Amino acid sequence: MLELRPNCECCGVDLPAASVAARICSFECTFCAACTDGVLGGRCPNCGGELVRRPIRPAEKLARFPAATVRKVKPEGCVAA
Ligand SMILES: [Zn+2]
Ligand SMILES: [Zn+2]
Repeated sequence: MLELRPNCECCGVDLPAASVAARICSFECTFCAACTDGVLGGRCPNCGGELVRRPIRPAEKLARFPAATVRKVKPEGCVAA
């Protein structure tokens, strides 16, 4: 099951479960659309894999399967992979 991490790992912006701006790689490294399309060039800086839009979990499922709350941010920010 997807963790639905709460923020962009590069810039720290909030990415709530309902956000259509969230992007993830196959390992669920999580970024915002602006970082993905900008500095990252569509590639995960951690694993080199492709970043795709994170699907929205239906709201009625979130109560039973809540999104992750642990924030992970690169202190140095992101550079192009
Ligand atoms: Zn970002
Ligand atoms: Zn990755």
